[in-house]
Amino acid sequence: MLVVFNFFLYENPIIHWARDHRTHHKFTETDADPHDPRRGLFFAHMGWAMLKKKREVLEKGRGIDQSDLHADPILKWQERYYMWFMPLGTFILPTVVPMYFWNETLTNAYCVNILRYLVCLHMHGLVNSVAHTYGDRPYDKFIGPADGFSVSALTLGEGLHNFHHTFPWDYRSAELGVFCFNFTKSCIDFFAMIGWAYDLKATTQDMIRARAARTGDGSSKHVWGWGDRDQTAEDHKGTVIIN
Ligand SMILES: [Zn+2]
Ligand SMILES: [Zn+2]
Repeated sequence: MLVVFNFFLYENPIIHWARDHRTHHKFTETDADPHDPRRGLFFAHMGWAMLKKKREVLEKGRGIDQSDLHADPILKWQERYYMWFMPLGTFILPTVVPMYFWNETLTNAYCVNILRYLVCLHMHGLVNSVAHTYGDRPYDKFIGPADGFSVSALTLGEGLHNFHHTFPWDYRSAELGVFCFNFTKSCIDFFAMIGWAYDLKATTQDMIRARAARTGDGSSKHVWGWGDRDQTAEDHKGTVIIN
């Protein structure tokens, strides 16, 4: 399903996307970061996709372990035929379907689809630009990535970036406090419920609190409101707890 969905938004095949993402996490805000926020908001947002990658990004990117992804035959198939199916999913089908089924004009169908594509790209771009610049740093004030509710709402739960960079293994990409709108997590939870997703990893509340007290900027309690809420077994049903 993810492979098919990936064809509907031209952002490169999953294997390439994951390599850039892993490189971004391992070398955040260094010369090897593909969308290094130190080069400005525009570069981090979309400029990086318009330019050739720097030597450091290419070299460090090649060193990233991708063996798990390369061992997956479906992902290898997608990488190989990406340029055949991506134009179909991103441009042709979303234009032809409204024309055929509800008599939309070519201009309307084409323009609305391009709008959809641009909105999605910009929402995703916000995670690399705005969420790396503006917001609170409840878990680690010494890194650039920040937590912001607006980006989180626009990206369906991906804007709590200080949490995500501090605890990158946590499938929730957020600590669920007051602002718990997180469609991405709910999706993973749904697929865990039907058994398609498994071995989910989450961070214990104790570890989160200890880290926030040690390196956070003090905003965690009053901003995210988790202070008094204790974790329950229900929070981590079926997940692997990392200590
Ligand atoms: Zn990430
Ligand atoms: Zn980031």
